[in-house]
Amino acid sequence: MPHTPHDFLDEARRAIPEVSVEAVAARRTHGDEVVLLDVREHEEVRTGFIEGAITIPRGFLEFRAAEYLPQTDTDIVVYCASGARSLLAAQVLRAMGYTRVASMAGGITRWKEAGYPVVRDRQLSAEQLERYSRHFLLHQLGEKGQGKLLDAKVLLVGAGGLGSPVALYLAAAGIGTLGIVDADVVDRSNLQRQVLHTTDRVGMRKTESAVMTIHALNPDVQVHAYPERLTVDNVMALFQDYDVIVDGSDNFPTRYLVNDGAVLVGKPVVHGSIFQFEGQVSVFKPHEGPCYRCLYPTPPPPGLVPSRSEVGVLGVLPGVIGVIQATETIKLIIGQGEPLVGRLLMYDALAMRFREIRIRRDPDCPLCGAHPTITALLNYEEFCGLDTAALATIGA
Ligand SMILES: [Zn+2]
Repeated sequence: MPHTPHDFLDEARRAIPEVSVEAVAARRTHGDEVVLLDVREHEEVRTGFIEGAITIPRGFLEFRAAEYLPQTDTDIVVYCASGARSLLAAQVLRAMGYTRVASMAGGITRWKEAGYPVVRDRQLSAEQLERYSRHFLLHQLGEKGQGKLLDAKVLLVGAGGLGSPVALYLAAAGIGTLGIVDADVVDRSNLQRQVLHTTDRVGMRKTESAVMTIHALNPDVQVHAYPERLTVDNVMALFQDYDVIVDGSDNFPTRYLVNDGAVLVGKPVVHGSIFQFEGQVSVFKPHEGPCYRCLYPTPPPPGLVPSRSEVGVLGVLPGVIGVIQATETIKLIIGQGEPLVGRLLMYDALAMRFREIRIRRDPDCPLCGAHPTITALLNYEEFCGLDTAALATIGA
């Protein structure tokens, strides 16, 4: 005669200790290092789960346990809806070598009956569940991380070479609000690298073209277009409204303005710059790592600053650097991984080589040092030794 479900459960009950919901709650209150593992299906988890629980549906347990629970001596309490699937799941974990596994008797149903709280991830639409499904399979991101992306507000300074890949990938990833500052119009010579724009939009404002491309890609994204130059008059109000600033500017006055404004309002800047075949990326997080001025206290003399129209740039180069900027932005928002704070990543396309240098906060930095001398915004054209007429030639 085949085994009945009861036979399997009886066998599991003999092998696996069961703990009450009260005991689990008490252990959490005491700050015990216990991992709660929810083995229900995603649709069930969506209706509510115990805060901090790891989710691996029962059917994926054998495949994902090692990734989520790398230590076999981790103290694990498994739960499901009623306490049956969790017993069987715990038995599987035991067979996989986990030594400290228990099952929560009565499951989350009993947990709720006892009046303990459950949390719910942001409720996503059916379309969003499908669109972002590959994100949900990453436990570092999941529905919780996707919720953070949808709630995030990112400001892109520039919709040119760097801003294009950043905007495309952040929009695709489901960043809820993208602000784009750019005063330029699309020029045919931009199209070799500025992949947000298209041939039929030559002469259109770059912000308008960006809105069209982003909406076509992902209607979830709210785009705020600022068809203006970033200036000392608008920078503070603009930065105030956003969580992360992505610097895709291509001139020194704007770069120092972005840096100073961001430090003064306390917002992180994902910095990128490109020159011919080389690029560099870093994350300037105010007071946690260096700022741009810690690296470059003053700009190079104006005679040494060529304008983009005089210097070539390999079309794919901003693609590489911009995608790294987008990656760092997403990491900052979901709070995962090791950000490029205090590290300058340098890329040489011809040699196809990445190099990383440690960069430190300068205690004497005039902006973020111990005794700052810059406490308000400056005249950046003057600071960089440029007059406004010369600036006009430094387009994207
Ligand atoms: Zn600094």
